[in-house]
Amino acid sequence: MNPRTIVVVGAGQAGGWVAKTLRAANFSGCIVLIGEEMHPPHERPPLSKAVLAGEAEAASTYLFKGDEFVKLELDFRPGTRAVTIDRAAKRVVLAGDEAIAYDKLFLCTGGAARRLAVPGGDGPRVHYLRTIADSLAIGSRLSEIRHLVVIGGGWIGLEVAAAARMRKLSVTLIEGLSRLCERSVPPEVSAHLLALHRRNGVEIVLEEGVKAIDDGERVAVELASGRRVQGGAVVAGIGLAPNVALAQAAGIAVDNGIVVDDQGRTSDPDIFAAGDVANAPLACLGRRVRLESWANAQNQAIVAAQAALGGDARYDELPWFWSDQYDMNLQILGLPARWPAPVVRGEPAGGSFSLFFLDDGRIASVVSVNAPRDLRAVKKLIQTRKPVRAEDLADPRIQLQRL
Ligand SMILES: Cc1cc2nc3c(=O)[nH]c(=O)nc-3n(C[C@H](O)[C@H](O)[C@H](O)COP(=O)(O)OP(=O)(O)OC[C@H]3O[C@@H](n4cnc5c(N)ncnc54)[C@H](O)[C@@H]3O)c2cc1C
Repeated sequence: MNPRTIVVVGAGQAGGWVAKTLRAANFSGCIVLIGEEMHPPHERPPLSKAVLAGEAEAASTYLFKGDEFVKLELDFRPGTRAVTIDRAAKRVVLAGDEAIAYDKLFLCTGGAARRLAVPGGDGPRVHYLRTIADSLAIGSRLSEIRHLVVIGGGWIGLEVAAAARMRKLSVTLIEGLSRLCERSVPPEVSAHLLALHRRNGVEIVLEEGVKAIDDGERVAVELASGRRVQGGAVVAGIGLAPNVALAQAAGIAVDNGIVVDDQGRTSDPDIFAAGDVANAPLACLGRRVRLESWANAQNQAIVAAQAALGGDARYDELPWFWSDQYDMNLQILGLPARWPAPVVRGEPAGGSFSLFFLDDGRIASVVSVNAPRDLRAVKKLIQTRKPVRAEDLADPRIQLQRL
């Protein structure tokens, strides 16, 4: 039976793409888009970059421009939380008790910034960054203070540190592990990030745990070593917890996110999930992953929306991620489970280079720093698993496109 009402919980990037894709596929039934935030669907990357640096308005992050959103003719419910799914009756219950019947349901609930589990971790000047409201609150705090303490040397922490430096604040960044972005880049790139931030005046403290935060006249972060780092405010970027409570309470399979197949279908065939909340199999990697990236939120949502209307496309995109800090653009294609010795192309000391990670004579992944063309050129080689010679990759006289 063709669906007549499709309900989408979560009006972020994935939720927005589900709605757009359904209409693009000529679905003329009712689409109810339920979003806890007050904003229409939007993209988050600028929230730690241009919006935080004061260079772009929050509204510039909206996914739909001009009258595009109105033309989708959605029943959009901003500022509304979905609290229960009644799978037997196929209804979603909203805060306030209104129940909405669905034929197909999408869970695009993303995730929430992890909180510091230390005394003072929820103090008024301790900030976390996920939403537009968070970014605006941090932005206005940055205009009041002179020194910022950042906890966490992952992507969010590093981008916040860079934005704060661009706003002329002094910054101390504290990371518990021995190198920056340890879980997502190889040691060579961590070293590059460390040098980049130090060159831009950020004090970076590695291998230091946070014991407590004292939100007194000034905020003081108490470290495991006994050192106290003072500042006007703290921003903690310590990871994301997927928003699975709704699915879990409804008895849908959950394991590091909502478990879906390669069409975004959950353990209930009428319920789909996409974006940061979904744990999906990727044939190109040969394993399940839950990705937190812009490209995944968009492309997985497109496939899932098509599947809900009977389409047979499968989601199998190579993971792609980027970060911008100061004048550096970094991109990662692929998701290696380990970091063997890379083939280096370009000049790490000169600030523009790519690292290729080979597996059995084939490129498994690439990390490019200020070299986006290298990454684009080898995408096809990775997808087709074509054998390559390390000498060719490393030789700047050989055009990668010709391989
Ligand atoms: C600051 C920041 C910078 C980033 N930078 C990059 C980058 O440079 N490159 C990159 O590739 N990726 C980046 N990302 C990651 C990327 O933005 C995310 O992967 C993407 O936003 C995920 O989209 P989503 O729709 O799955 O989740 P979200 O965009 O988080 O949307 C989920 C929505 O669901 C709502 N919701 C949850 N539960 C309920 C409920 N019960 N009822 C109603 N609504 C609910 C939430 O309020 C939220 O609005 C960044 C993320 C952040 C936060």
